[in-house]
Amino acid sequence: MGELAVLDTKLAALRQGYLCSCGRRHQLPIADIEIDSDILGKIPDKLAKLGLVGAAHLVADTNTMLAAGSEVEAALQGAGVATSKTVYETQDKDLVPDEVNLARLFLEVPLSATVLLAIGSGTITDLVRFVAHKMRKPFVSMPTAPSMDGYASAVAPLIVGGFKRTFAATPPVAIYADLAVLCKAPSEMIVAGFGDLLGKFTARADWQLSRIVHGEYYCQSSLDLMETALEQCSANPEGLYRREPFLIQGLIEGLILSGIAISMAGNSRPASGAEHMLAHYWEMRSLKEGSHYHLHGTKVGVATPLILDIYGRVLATDSKSIDPASLAGRHLTPEETEELIRNHFGPMGDQILVESPGKRLTWGAREKRIQVILNKWDQIQEALAWLPTSESVLEMLDQAGAVTSPEKLGLPQSWVDDALIYARQLRARYTILDMATELGVLGSRLPKPSY
Ligand SMILES: [Zn+2]
Ligand SMILES: [Zn+2]
Repeated sequence: MGELAVLDTKLAALRQGYLCSCGRRHQLPIADIEIDSDILGKIPDKLAKLGLVGAAHLVADTNTMLAAGSEVEAALQGAGVATSKTVYETQDKDLVPDEVNLARLFLEVPLSATVLLAIGSGTITDLVRFVAHKMRKPFVSMPTAPSMDGYASAVAPLIVGGFKRTFAATPPVAIYADLAVLCKAPSEMIVAGFGDLLGKFTARADWQLSRIVHGEYYCQSSLDLMETALEQCSANPEGLYRREPFLIQGLIEGLILSGIAISMAGNSRPASGAEHMLAHYWEMRSLKEGSHYHLHGTKVGVATPLILDIYGRVLATDSKSIDPASLAGRHLTPEETEELIRNHFGPMGDQILVESPGKRLTWGAREKRIQVILNKWDQIQEALAWLPTSESVLEMLDQAGAVTSPEKLGLPQSWVDDALIYARQLRARYTILDMATELGVLGSRLPKPSY
C-alpha cells in the first residue's frame, strides 16, 4: 500500500520517540493507525495484534451502525469475540455529547468489556473517549467521516449544563479508517472536514505571529506533519467534491495528523487559531440562543476567509501610518473592557474574564506591545508571506462544494461583527484578532467585512 507507507514514514520517527528542535520530546501515543479499504472485516485480527483479546463494546449511531458497525460486529462474532453495543438513535435529531448520552454509555458498557470501539465521527468519538477514560478501558477509533480533526485527540469537548467544556481524556489506542466508508460519508461532513483542515492556514499563521511577538513556544515539526495533506487537498478541492479516494484519504490523514500535532505541541496551537475562536463563539451563541447549529468544521471553514481578510488588512497596513497618539485617545481601559465583556456574555462573562486577563491591556502595556510589533514589522511580513489570500480560500471552499460565508450559513451579520470583537476574549491565545485590535485595524467599532 503506497499511501500507507507515506503515513507510516511520517509517523516512524514519532513511534520511536525523539527529542525535537523545539525542546520537547515527542512520542506517538497511538499504537496503530491505518487508513485502507476493506478494513472492517480485519478488525478482529487487528484487535488481537494489539493484545486486546476479550469482549468488545461497539458504540455507533443508527447511521454509522449501518455504514460500518454491522460489518464490524459480524466480523467480531465470526471470530468468536463476545460483543455488546450502544446504538444512538439519530433519525430525528443530531447526537449531542451531553450528560444524558454519557450516562447511557456508562450504563451500557459492561464491566467485562476489554475494549470500546467508537464507530462514528465527532460526537461518538468524544462520548467514547470520555467514558473509556473514566472506566480505564482502551478504545479504538473507527472514523466514518473525514469531518473533524479530533480523532487522535486526548481531550473530549462535552456539553455540560448547556455549555461546552473540554475534559481531559485519553487518545485511542488505534485508529482504523475504512476508505470506502469515508468516501460514502454525507457531503456536508466531507466539506466540514475540509473547512477544519483549511483552518490550519490561519492557525499556523497565528502561532508564527505569537512566536515573533511574544517568543511563544513553537514546534515546526508538528506543523510539517500536516503539510502534505493540506497541500494535497487545497490544491484540488474539486477532487474532494468528486470524492476521489486519494483526496478523501489525504483529508482524513490531515485531520488525524492534526490531532497528533496537538499532542506533540502539548496544546492545540498547530490546529487552532482565531478561526477556531470565531467558530467557538458561534457555537456558544447557538447553544445559548437555541439556533444556527452547524458542524464544527463548517463554521471553521467560513471563519477562515474572514480571518485571512483581517490578515490581509493588517499586512497591507503601512506601519508608518500607525499613530499611537490617536490610538491612545480611543483606548479602552481594562475596566471598560471588562464591563463590555460582562454586558455581552451575560452570566458567562465572569468565566470568560478568567480565561484571558492578559488581553485587557492598560494603555501603557498596549503602547509597549505596539512598539514590539512595529520593531518586528519586517520579520512578521516575511514570515507570513506564504499565507493564502482570503479570496483563494473562498474559492477552495466553493470548489469543494462547501458553504463560503456566514451569511450563506444563515448566521446574522451581528454574530459576525460580535465574533470579530469578542471571540478573542474566549482564550488567552494570541492571534491576529489581538494584533489587529492593538494596532487599531480592528477598532471597537468594526467596519463590515468586505463580503
Ligand atoms: Zn477544528
Ligand atoms: Zn517539536
